[in-house]
Amino acid sequence: MKKRTVGILGATGSVGQRFVQLLADHPWFTITAVCASERSAGKRYADAVSWKQATPIPEAVRDLPISSCEPELNCDFVFSGLDASVAGEIEEAFAAAGYPVISNSKNHRMAPDVPLLVADINPEHIALIDIQKKNRGFTKGYLVTNPNCSTIGLVTALKPLYDAFGIESVFVVTMQAVSGAGYPGISSMDILDNVVPYIGNEDDKIESEPLKILGSLTDETLVFASFGVSATANRVPVVDGHTGSVFVKLKKPASPEEAATVLRDYSPGSDFAGLPFMPERTILVADSPDRPQPRLDRDVHRGMSVTVGRVRKCPQLDLRFTFLVHNTIRGAAGTAILNAELLLLKGYL
Ligand code: NAP
Repeated sequence: MKKRTVGILGATGSVGQRFVQLLADHPWFTITAVCASERSAGKRYADAVSWKQATPIPEAVRDLPISSCEPELNCDFVFSGLDASVAGEIEEAFAAAGYPVISNSKNHRMAPDVPLLVADINPEHIALIDIQKKNRGFTKGYLVTNPNCSTIGLVTALKPLYDAFGIESVFVVTMQAVSGAGYPGISSMDILDNVVPYIGNEDDKIESEPLKILGSLTDETLVFASFGVSATANRVPVVDGHTGSVFVKLKKPASPEEAATVLRDYSPGSDFAGLPFMPERTILVADSPDRPQPRLDRDVHRGMSVTVGRVRKCPQLDLRFTFLVHNTIRGAAGTAILNAELLLLKGYL
Protein backbone atom coordinates (compact mmCIF):
# COMPACT_ATOMS: atom_id res chain seq x y z
CA MET A 1 0.00 0.00 0.00
CA LYS A 2 1.23 3.52 -0.82
CA LYS A 3 1.99 5.41 2.42
CA ARG A 4 -0.24 8.46 3.03
CA THR A 5 1.46 11.77 3.83
CA VAL A 6 0.31 13.61 6.94
CA GLY A 7 0.38 17.16 8.30
CA ILE A 8 0.09 17.90 12.02
CA LEU A 9 -1.75 21.11 12.97
CA GLY A 10 -0.67 22.23 16.45
CA ALA A 11 2.40 19.98 16.21
CA THR A 12 4.23 21.69 19.10
CA GLY A 13 1.54 21.13 21.78
CA SER A 14 0.97 18.18 24.15
CA VAL A 15 -1.27 16.34 21.69
CA GLY A 16 0.79 17.43 18.66
CA GLN A 17 3.93 15.98 20.25
CA ARG A 18 2.14 12.69 20.83
CA PHE A 19 1.22 12.57 17.14
CA VAL A 20 4.87 13.17 16.23
CA GLN A 21 6.03 10.47 18.66
CA LEU A 22 3.37 7.85 17.81
CA LEU A 23 3.65 8.29 14.03
CA ALA A 24 7.46 7.86 13.99
CA ASP A 25 7.34 4.26 12.77
CA HIS A 26 3.80 4.10 11.45
CA PRO A 27 3.52 1.60 8.58
CA TRP A 28 0.83 3.56 6.67
CA PHE A 29 1.43 7.27 7.49
CA THR A 30 4.46 9.59 7.14
CA ILE A 31 4.65 13.12 8.55
CA THR A 32 5.56 15.62 5.83
CA ALA A 33 4.31 18.89 7.38
CA VAL A 34 4.16 20.39 10.87
CA CYS A 35 2.22 23.57 11.68
CA ALA A 36 1.74 25.78 14.72
CA SER A 37 1.18 29.45 15.60
CA GLU A 38 3.00 32.45 14.12
CA ARG A 39 5.25 32.27 17.23
CA SER A 40 6.70 28.98 15.95
CA ALA A 41 6.31 29.33 12.16
CA GLY A 42 9.60 29.47 10.22
CA LYS A 43 11.63 27.68 12.94
CA ARG A 44 12.97 24.11 12.79
CA TYR A 45 10.63 21.77 14.68
CA ALA A 46 13.33 20.90 17.21
CA ASP A 47 14.01 24.59 17.91
CA ALA A 48 10.37 25.60 18.33
CA VAL A 49 9.04 22.71 20.43
CA SER A 50 9.40 22.29 24.19
CA TRP A 51 9.63 18.48 23.80
CA LYS A 52 8.18 16.62 26.82
CA GLN A 53 8.00 13.03 25.55
CA ALA A 54 10.11 10.22 27.02
CA THR A 55 11.62 9.33 23.61
CA PRO A 56 13.78 11.67 21.45
CA ILE A 57 12.21 13.78 18.71
CA PRO A 58 12.04 11.45 15.66
CA GLU A 59 14.90 12.16 13.22
CA ALA A 60 12.50 12.57 10.29
CA VAL A 61 10.69 15.45 12.02
CA ARG A 62 13.53 17.27 13.91
CA ASP A 63 14.52 19.43 10.94
CA LEU A 64 11.11 19.97 9.34
CA PRO A 65 10.28 23.68 9.10
CA ILE A 66 7.14 24.73 10.98
CA SER A 67 4.50 26.25 8.70
CA SER A 68 1.67 28.52 9.69
CA CYS A 69 -1.74 26.80 9.56
CA GLU A 70 -2.66 27.68 5.95
CA PRO A 71 -4.35 25.01 3.82
CA GLU A 72 -1.46 24.81 1.36
CA LEU A 73 0.40 21.83 2.80
CA ASN A 74 2.18 19.03 1.03
CA CYS A 75 0.18 16.13 2.54
CA ASP A 76 -2.82 13.86 1.91
CA PHE A 77 -4.61 14.69 5.17
CA VAL A 78 -4.10 16.42 8.54
CA PHE A 79 -4.37 15.57 12.21
CA SER A 80 -5.25 18.52 14.43
CA GLY A 81 -4.11 19.19 17.99
CA LEU A 82 -4.89 22.90 17.73
CA ASP A 83 -5.85 25.08 20.61
CA ALA A 84 -9.66 25.36 20.68
CA SER A 85 -9.47 29.16 20.38
CA VAL A 86 -8.31 28.77 16.75
CA ALA A 87 -9.21 25.20 15.74
CA GLY A 88 -12.74 25.93 14.49
CA GLU A 89 -11.89 28.23 11.59
CA ILE A 90 -8.56 26.66 10.66
CA GLU A 91 -9.97 23.11 10.49
CA GLU A 92 -12.98 24.26 8.46
CA ALA A 93 -10.64 26.02 6.00
CA PHE A 94 -8.56 22.85 5.56
CA ALA A 95 -11.65 20.70 4.98
CA ALA A 96 -13.03 23.20 2.46
CA ALA A 97 -9.66 23.19 0.66
CA GLY A 98 -9.85 19.41 0.19
CA TYR A 99 -7.96 18.01 3.21
CA PRO A 100 -9.54 15.34 5.42
CA VAL A 101 -9.16 16.75 8.97
CA ILE A 102 -8.99 14.39 11.95
CA SER A 103 -9.25 16.58 15.01
CA ASN A 104 -8.89 16.43 18.79
CA SER A 105 -10.40 19.85 19.39
CA LYS A 106 -13.88 20.44 20.73
CA ASN A 107 -15.03 22.93 18.09
CA HIS A 108 -16.82 20.65 15.59
CA ARG A 109 -17.53 17.68 17.87
CA MET A 110 -21.25 18.23 18.34
CA ALA A 111 -22.11 19.35 14.78
CA PRO A 112 -24.86 16.98 13.55
CA ASP A 113 -22.98 16.04 10.36
CA VAL A 114 -19.53 15.52 11.93
CA PRO A 115 -18.60 12.07 13.26
CA LEU A 116 -17.52 12.06 16.91
CA LEU A 117 -15.56 8.91 16.33
CA VAL A 118 -13.83 6.30 18.46
CA ALA A 119 -13.07 3.71 15.79
CA ASP A 120 -13.53 0.62 17.98
CA ILE A 121 -16.73 1.98 19.61
CA ASN A 122 -18.90 3.66 16.93
CA PRO A 123 -17.30 2.91 13.52
CA GLU A 124 -20.69 3.11 11.75
CA HIS A 125 -20.76 6.89 12.37
CA ILE A 126 -18.20 7.26 9.56
CA ALA A 127 -21.25 7.36 7.26
CA LEU A 128 -21.86 10.95 8.48
CA ILE A 129 -18.91 12.01 6.31
CA ASP A 130 -20.95 11.50 3.14
CA ILE A 131 -23.82 13.56 4.58
CA GLN A 132 -21.37 16.28 5.68
CA LYS A 133 -19.78 16.51 2.24
CA LYS A 134 -23.21 16.88 0.65
CA ASN A 135 -24.38 19.46 3.25
CA ARG A 136 -21.27 21.60 3.05
CA GLY A 137 -20.31 21.18 -0.61
CA PHE A 138 -16.95 19.62 0.32
CA THR A 139 -15.37 17.57 -2.46
CA LYS A 140 -12.34 15.70 -1.07
CA GLY A 141 -12.10 17.24 2.40
CA TYR A 142 -14.14 16.57 5.54
CA LEU A 143 -14.06 16.87 9.34
CA VAL A 144 -13.86 13.95 11.76
CA THR A 145 -13.42 14.57 15.49
CA ASN A 146 -12.50 12.49 18.48
CA PRO A 147 -14.03 13.06 21.89
CA ASN A 148 -12.77 14.73 25.03
CA CYS A 149 -10.07 12.64 26.73
CA SER A 150 -12.17 11.60 29.75
CA THR A 151 -15.19 10.93 27.54
CA ILE A 152 -13.15 8.40 25.52
CA GLY A 153 -12.36 6.44 28.70
CA LEU A 154 -15.93 6.64 29.98
CA VAL A 155 -17.66 5.76 26.72
CA THR A 156 -15.32 2.83 26.08
CA ALA A 157 -16.41 1.32 29.41
CA LEU A 158 -20.10 2.19 28.88
CA LYS A 159 -20.43 0.77 25.34
CA PRO A 160 -20.57 -2.96 26.24
CA LEU A 161 -22.91 -2.23 29.17
CA TYR A 162 -25.16 -0.10 26.97
CA ASP A 163 -25.36 -2.81 24.31
CA ALA A 164 -25.98 -5.65 26.79
CA PHE A 165 -28.20 -4.10 29.46
CA GLY A 166 -29.19 -0.55 28.39
CA ILE A 167 -28.38 2.47 30.57
CA GLU A 168 -30.72 4.78 32.49
CA SER A 169 -28.26 7.10 34.18
CA VAL A 170 -24.59 7.62 34.88
CA PHE A 171 -22.74 9.57 37.56
CA VAL A 172 -19.01 10.08 37.06
CA VAL A 173 -16.25 11.79 39.04
CA THR A 174 -12.96 12.21 37.17
CA MET A 175 -9.42 12.69 38.45
CA GLN A 176 -7.57 14.18 35.49
CA ALA A 177 -3.84 14.43 34.81
CA VAL A 178 -2.01 17.72 34.32
CA SER A 179 -0.99 16.90 30.72
CA GLY A 180 -4.69 17.21 29.87
CA ALA A 181 -4.31 20.98 30.25
CA GLY A 182 -1.63 21.19 27.53
CA TYR A 183 1.83 22.66 28.04
CA PRO A 184 2.76 24.45 30.29
CA GLY A 185 -0.75 23.96 31.67
CA ILE A 186 -1.48 24.46 35.35
CA SER A 187 1.38 25.91 37.45
CA SER A 188 3.18 23.62 39.93
CA MET A 189 2.22 25.99 42.78
CA ASP A 190 -1.42 25.35 41.98
CA ILE A 191 -1.33 21.55 41.60
CA LEU A 192 1.39 20.08 43.86
CA ASP A 193 -0.02 18.86 47.19
CA ASN A 194 -3.45 19.71 45.85
CA VAL A 195 -6.66 18.78 43.98
CA VAL A 196 -8.50 21.39 41.92
CA PRO A 197 -12.24 20.62 41.71
CA TYR A 198 -12.79 22.56 38.50
CA ILE A 199 -11.79 22.14 34.83
CA GLY A 200 -13.47 24.70 32.56
CA ASN A 201 -16.35 23.23 30.47
CA GLU A 202 -15.17 19.67 31.18
CA ASP A 203 -18.32 18.51 33.01
CA ASP A 204 -20.50 19.58 30.07
CA LYS A 205 -18.38 17.69 27.52
CA ILE A 206 -18.44 14.48 29.58
CA GLU A 207 -22.21 14.81 29.99
CA SER A 208 -23.06 15.43 26.32
CA GLU A 209 -20.48 13.62 24.16
CA PRO A 210 -21.27 9.99 25.22
CA LEU A 211 -24.87 10.46 24.06
CA LYS A 212 -23.71 11.34 20.54
CA ILE A 213 -21.12 8.53 20.43
CA LEU A 214 -23.64 5.90 21.56
CA GLY A 215 -26.32 7.34 19.27
CA SER A 216 -27.67 5.42 16.28
CA LEU A 217 -27.78 6.47 12.65
CA THR A 218 -31.22 6.14 11.11
CA ASP A 219 -31.62 7.34 7.52
CA GLU A 220 -29.47 10.45 7.44
CA THR A 221 -29.91 11.47 11.07
CA LEU A 222 -27.99 10.60 14.20
CA VAL A 223 -30.39 9.91 17.08
CA PHE A 224 -28.60 10.50 20.38
CA ALA A 225 -28.70 7.95 23.20
CA SER A 226 -31.17 9.17 25.80
CA PHE A 227 -29.77 8.39 29.26
CA GLY A 228 -28.73 11.09 31.74
CA VAL A 229 -25.11 11.77 32.73
CA SER A 230 -23.92 13.84 35.69
CA ALA A 231 -20.17 14.57 35.77
CA THR A 232 -17.74 16.42 37.98
CA ALA A 233 -14.10 16.78 36.91
CA ASN A 234 -11.06 17.31 39.14
CA ARG A 235 -7.44 18.11 38.24
CA VAL A 236 -5.00 15.97 40.25
CA PRO A 237 -1.18 15.89 40.52
CA VAL A 238 -0.69 13.02 38.04
CA VAL A 239 1.33 13.60 34.83
CA ASP A 240 -0.55 11.30 32.40
CA GLY A 241 -3.71 9.20 32.78
CA HIS A 242 -7.28 10.21 33.64
CA THR A 243 -9.12 8.11 36.23
CA GLY A 244 -12.92 8.07 36.64
CA SER A 245 -15.24 6.67 39.33
CA VAL A 246 -18.50 5.69 37.67
CA PHE A 247 -21.95 4.82 39.07
CA VAL A 248 -24.52 3.37 36.65
CA LYS A 249 -28.25 2.65 36.69
CA LEU A 250 -28.94 -0.01 34.08
CA LYS A 251 -32.21 -0.58 32.19
CA LYS A 252 -31.98 -4.32 32.75
CA PRO A 253 -30.28 -5.12 36.06
CA ALA A 254 -27.06 -7.15 35.90
CA SER A 255 -24.73 -8.53 38.52
CA PRO A 256 -21.15 -7.22 38.78
CA GLU A 257 -19.96 -10.59 37.46
CA GLU A 258 -22.20 -10.31 34.37
CA ALA A 259 -21.01 -6.73 33.82
CA ALA A 260 -17.34 -7.71 34.17
CA THR A 261 -17.88 -10.49 31.64
CA VAL A 262 -19.36 -8.21 28.96
CA LEU A 263 -16.58 -5.66 29.59
CA ARG A 264 -13.88 -8.33 29.37
CA ASP A 265 -15.38 -9.89 26.24
CA TYR A 266 -15.89 -6.64 24.31
CA SER A 267 -14.57 -6.82 20.78
CA PRO A 268 -15.28 -4.41 17.93
CA GLY A 269 -15.09 -7.23 15.38
CA SER A 270 -12.77 -8.73 12.82
CA ASP A 271 -12.58 -5.57 10.63
CA PHE A 272 -10.14 -4.12 13.11
CA ALA A 273 -7.65 -6.93 13.44
CA GLY A 274 -5.14 -5.50 10.95
CA LEU A 275 -5.18 -1.87 12.13
CA PRO A 276 -1.74 -0.96 13.50
CA PHE A 277 -3.12 1.06 16.46
CA MET A 278 -5.87 -1.38 17.42
CA PRO A 279 -5.02 -2.63 20.91
CA GLU A 280 -4.99 -6.34 21.61
CA ARG A 281 -8.03 -5.67 23.82
CA THR A 282 -10.06 -2.44 23.88
CA ILE A 283 -10.92 -3.00 27.58
CA LEU A 284 -8.88 -4.74 30.24
CA VAL A 285 -10.64 -5.71 33.46
CA ALA A 286 -8.27 -5.51 36.43
CA ASP A 287 -8.67 -8.26 39.02
CA SER A 288 -6.74 -6.63 41.84
CA PRO A 289 -8.93 -4.44 44.10
CA ASP A 290 -6.41 -1.56 44.09
CA ARG A 291 -6.25 -1.16 40.28
CA PRO A 292 -6.35 0.64 37.88
CA GLN A 293 -3.71 3.19 38.87
CA PRO A 294 -2.34 5.82 36.45
CA ARG A 295 1.37 5.07 36.95
CA LEU A 296 0.91 1.29 36.66
CA ASP A 297 -1.82 0.93 34.04
CA ARG A 298 -1.78 3.90 31.63
CA ASP A 299 0.74 2.40 29.18
CA VAL A 300 -0.87 -1.02 28.82
CA HIS A 301 -1.15 -2.01 25.14
CA ARG A 302 0.87 1.12 24.22
CA GLY A 303 -1.67 3.37 25.96
CA MET A 304 -4.52 2.28 23.66
CA SER A 305 -6.56 0.14 26.10
CA VAL A 306 -8.90 1.38 28.80
CA THR A 307 -8.48 -0.44 32.13
CA VAL A 308 -11.61 -0.99 34.22
CA GLY A 309 -11.48 -2.18 37.80
CA ARG A 310 -13.49 -2.45 41.01
CA VAL A 311 -16.62 -3.58 39.15
CA ARG A 312 -19.04 -4.02 41.99
CA LYS A 313 -22.61 -3.54 43.15
CA CYS A 314 -23.77 0.00 43.85
CA PRO A 315 -26.12 0.17 46.86
CA GLN A 316 -28.04 3.11 45.33
CA LEU A 317 -27.93 2.41 41.55
CA ASP A 318 -26.84 -0.92 39.99
CA LEU A 319 -23.10 -0.89 39.32
CA ARG A 320 -19.98 1.08 40.15
CA PHE A 321 -16.48 0.82 38.73
CA THR A 322 -13.26 2.75 38.09
CA PHE A 323 -11.72 3.37 34.65
CA LEU A 324 -8.33 4.64 33.56
CA VAL A 325 -7.47 6.10 30.13
CA HIS A 326 -4.13 7.46 28.90
CA ASN A 327 -5.33 10.97 28.10
CA THR A 328 -2.91 11.90 25.29
CA ILE A 329 -2.81 8.41 23.68
CA ARG A 330 -6.19 6.57 23.82
CA GLY A 331 -7.71 9.89 24.98
CA ALA A 332 -6.36 11.93 22.06
CA ALA A 333 -3.63 11.27 19.46
CA GLY A 334 -3.78 7.45 19.56
CA THR A 335 -7.53 7.33 18.93
CA ALA A 336 -7.17 9.92 16.14
CA ILE A 337 -4.57 7.66 14.50
CA LEU A 338 -6.82 4.58 14.93
CA ASN A 339 -9.67 6.62 13.40
CA ALA A 340 -7.45 7.49 10.42
CA GLU A 341 -6.52 3.82 9.96
CA LEU A 342 -10.20 2.88 9.84
CA LEU A 343 -10.89 5.73 7.39
CA LEU A 344 -8.12 4.42 5.15
CA LEU A 345 -9.46 0.86 5.38
CA LYS A 346 -12.94 2.10 4.41
CA GLY A 347 -11.66 4.10 1.42
CA TYR A 348 -11.99 7.60 2.91
CA LEU A 349 -8.25 8.44 2.74
P1 NAP B 1 -1.34 22.84 23.82
O1 NAP B 1 -0.27 22.03 24.42
O2 NAP B 1 -1.64 24.17 24.39
O3 NAP B 1 -0.99 23.03 22.22
C1 NAP B 1 -1.75 23.89 21.40
C2 NAP B 1 -1.17 23.91 19.97
O4 NAP B 1 -1.93 24.88 19.22
C3 NAP B 1 0.31 24.32 19.86
O5 NAP B 1 0.93 23.62 18.82
C4 NAP B 1 0.20 25.80 19.49
O6 NAP B 1 1.33 26.28 18.76
C5 NAP B 1 -1.01 25.80 18.60
N1 NAP B 1 -1.62 27.14 18.53
C6 NAP B 1 -1.96 27.96 19.55
N2 NAP B 1 -2.44 29.14 19.06
C7 NAP B 1 -2.39 29.03 17.70
C8 NAP B 1 -2.74 29.92 16.64
N3 NAP B 1 -3.22 31.16 16.86
N4 NAP B 1 -2.56 29.50 15.36
C9 NAP B 1 -2.06 28.26 15.11
N5 NAP B 1 -1.70 27.38 16.08
C10 NAP B 1 -1.87 27.78 17.36
O7 NAP B 1 -2.73 22.05 23.80
P2 NAP B 1 -2.99 20.44 23.84
O8 NAP B 1 -3.16 19.96 25.22
O9 NAP B 1 -2.03 19.78 22.93
O10 NAP B 1 -4.45 20.38 23.22
C11 NAP B 1 -4.70 20.57 21.83
C12 NAP B 1 -6.17 20.35 21.54
O11 NAP B 1 -6.51 18.99 21.82
C13 NAP B 1 -7.08 21.22 22.39
O12 NAP B 1 -8.17 21.63 21.61
C14 NAP B 1 -7.49 20.29 23.53
O13 NAP B 1 -8.72 20.63 24.10
C15 NAP B 1 -7.55 18.94 22.82
N6 NAP B 1 -7.30 17.76 23.66
C16 NAP B 1 -6.25 17.73 24.54
C17 NAP B 1 -6.01 16.57 25.30
C18 NAP B 1 -4.88 16.45 26.29
O14 NAP B 1 -4.86 15.45 27.04
N7 NAP B 1 -3.94 17.39 26.35
C19 NAP B 1 -6.84 15.46 25.12
C20 NAP B 1 -7.90 15.52 24.20
C21 NAP B 1 -8.09 16.67 23.47
P3 NAP B 1 2.52 27.15 19.46
O15 NAP B 1 3.42 26.15 20.17
O16 NAP B 1 3.19 27.78 18.29
O17 NAP B 1 1.88 28.11 20.40
